[in-house]
Amino acid sequence: MRYYIDTYGCQMNVHDSEIIAGILEADGFLPAEAPEGSDVVLLVSCAVREHAETRVLGRTAQLGGISRKGSRHRPVLVLCGCVAQEHGGGLLDRFPDLDLVVGPDCYLQLPGLIRGSARTSMVEFRREDYEGVMPVRRDFPRAFVTIMRGCDNFCTYCIVPYVRGRERSRRADSVVSEVRDLSERGYREITLLGQNVNSYKDGETSFPVLLERVSEAAGDTWIRFVTSHPKDLVDDTVSVMAAHGNICRQLHLPLQSGSDAVLGRMRRGYTAAQYLEKIEALREAMPGIVLSTDMIAGFPGETEEDFSMTVDMMERIRYDYAFLFRYSERSGTAACGMDGSVPGEERLRRLGVLQDIQRRITLERSRDLIGRTVRVLVTGPARREGQQAARTGGNRMVVLQDTEFPPGSVVEVRIARADGWTHFGEPVEDR
Ligand code: SAH
Ligand code: SF4
Repeated sequence: MRYYIDTYGCQMNVHDSEIIAGILEADGFLPAEAPEGSDVVLLVSCAVREHAETRVLGRTAQLGGISRKGSRHRPVLVLCGCVAQEHGGGLLDRFPDLDLVVGPDCYLQLPGLIRGSARTSMVEFRREDYEGVMPVRRDFPRAFVTIMRGCDNFCTYCIVPYVRGRERSRRADSVVSEVRDLSERGYREITLLGQNVNSYKDGETSFPVLLERVSEAAGDTWIRFVTSHPKDLVDDTVSVMAAHGNICRQLHLPLQSGSDAVLGRMRRGYTAAQYLEKIEALREAMPGIVLSTDMIAGFPGETEEDFSMTVDMMERIRYDYAFLFRYSERSGTAACGMDGSVPGEERLRRLGVLQDIQRRITLERSRDLIGRTVRVLVTGPARREGQQAARTGGNRMVVLQDTEFPPGSVVEVRIARADGWTHFGEPVEDR
């Protein structure tokens, strides 16, 4: 049987698709190039904002309509991931062509469900960690390694704890041996994944201890990790980062809002001042560290003054990059019923303000690199013919023109120009 996977959402979902592929291929399934011509199509869905969910459900309806080339049979259609978990079996009534609804803890059951004939849903939480599954990675020389799944933070806007279940950490020994193995197989960048990697715990092993062990096992493979919750980012993590050259000088540290009142209602567990202290400690330990954030505009009760505090924080911190969102109600979350709903148009206006600020700052910071020589990891072909894509240690995108380095090469390039987050580099030497 041939399978095709369509993935939406965060890096966690991208890696879940690699895990699903691993489960299916261990059972004799083979990958297909396109949904047409495959025997089973799986959608790995994202429910974090309404827009993401609408897209996935639109795609579900669309895929339901396709027929397999040269045959009147249509592929088995499976909805996996967070939207599957959120709505469960009710989706089978809404989408007559949908065959299976399978939540993030039930992927081991996929081969049996696909071969069986029942239209059904499976969405129970099993604290699954997919230990023993060999993910099928298709992004050489870059790899994801999950260190924990689920989330217990219940930020009031967020659906993740409801659809991904309780937090559980993988065994440290297992993480370290996976990292060592990937590094020995030539992977040059490994990203440790979790909704809140800083709350990793395996017995006595906390996140900074794990990070140090991972760094030591990784040789000259670059290490990143995502996502860090500011409330749990401890000094030890900063000093481990600073002490190890293979840990990238880059951190995604979502602030969400610059107003303490809003942060309190979001239940984030830190104030703007505490957050700033962490940023200062990071910059002091690692000058030039590349910093990024997530921000939400128009959370319930956000006044003009609250919003201006978010603007101030962005101007003050000058992130290299930011993921900016307008608040989206997610049913079942605590914020959904809160007073002070900000009208949709106003959320959009505030989002636009944040986007304009960040666009300018991203460009200014990127232009600071022009003329400088940086070391990049070549990841593969870029979108345009004749171009290759690469990343700096800071995770900046660099495009190389007319080069043919094997993916995985580490090359010194001079940055010739910058266009927002994308930079254009010219090799000065290779190694
Ligand atoms: N665990 C990570 C990521 C969670 S989801 C973390 O804690 O940072 C990624 C981002 O989506 C969040 O950081 C938040 O900025 C955004 N997000 C989550 N729920 C949202 C909602 N209901 N409306 C708008 N943005 C949301
Ligand atoms: Fe959502 Fe907060 Fe958990 Fe991140 S830490 S996944 S924002 S509840």
